[in-house]
Amino acid sequence: MSLRNLSINLATVCQQYTMGQAVDACLAKGITAIAPWRDQVQATGLAEAAEIVRSNKLRVTGLCRGGMFPAADKDGLAAAIDDNKRAIDEAVALQADCLVMVVGGLPKHSRNIGSAREMVADGLAAILPHARANRMPLAIEPLHPMYAADRACINTLEQALDVCDLLGDGVGVAIDVYHVWWDPKLHAQIARAGAGGRILAHHICDWLVPTRDLLLDRGMMGDGIIDMRSIRSAIEKSGYDGPQEVEIFSAEDWWKRPGEEVLATCIERFLSTCTL
Ligand code: ZN
Repeated sequence: MSLRNLSINLATVCQQYTMGQAVDACLAKGITAIAPWRDQVQATGLAEAAEIVRSNKLRVTGLCRGGMFPAADKDGLAAAIDDNKRAIDEAVALQADCLVMVVGGLPKHSRNIGSAREMVADGLAAILPHARANRMPLAIEPLHPMYAADRACINTLEQALDVCDLLGDGVGVAIDVYHVWWDPKLHAQIARAGAGGRILAHHICDWLVPTRDLLLDRGMMGDGIIDMRSIRSAIEKSGYDGPQEVEIFSAEDWWKRPGEEVLATCIERFLSTCTL
């Protein structure tokens, strides 16, 4: 079966490889799509990173990440907007499919999640003209509600799509199974997203039971309780047949294994549990 629709989010092997090393390791296994993080790109240098993408004809399924809008004051919000415009420019340089947006949680000392959500919508609206002018789609990634305070106050696909409807063209969603698998409205909202042409990315990993760390204990596909195939089936039925991007933060397990073993396992599980 083809690996054309398998992408590796480079966070998955961030402890083992630099961006260049990760690309070499992916190519050696026939993987030609990646999604780097901005710190990895920065460590390599943007021009060098763009050259790695170009010379190897890689598909970049997303640049992680923009967002983090809510701030305690006007200066903070303005700085976030500036940084997001730079992130758009970096995504353009890397010819990424989209810029993934982790929108941000509550500002320090705030108890007002409504206001944080308003700041997110305002922040997205502020950078959207720059994104549109550069033809760089913004992919809002709803995060599991356990991150509402510190990472993202957009927590369901429905909520993300409501923001998309508000903003119009140039925005869509990144559907990460880790964040949305539990949602009783998931399938209906996937259909809504597909019908609106809003699906920009599909991230995969698994939810382990028990989960030992809120951030750094994501599982390999097949090791947890997410029905990968039923979600993929709904996504494909809705009209999106783009890559599935493996994104695993795993401080105590996969980050400690040899990179080659991690990539080999990603391929094996992608084929055995994620493809239809
Ligand atoms: Zn993700």
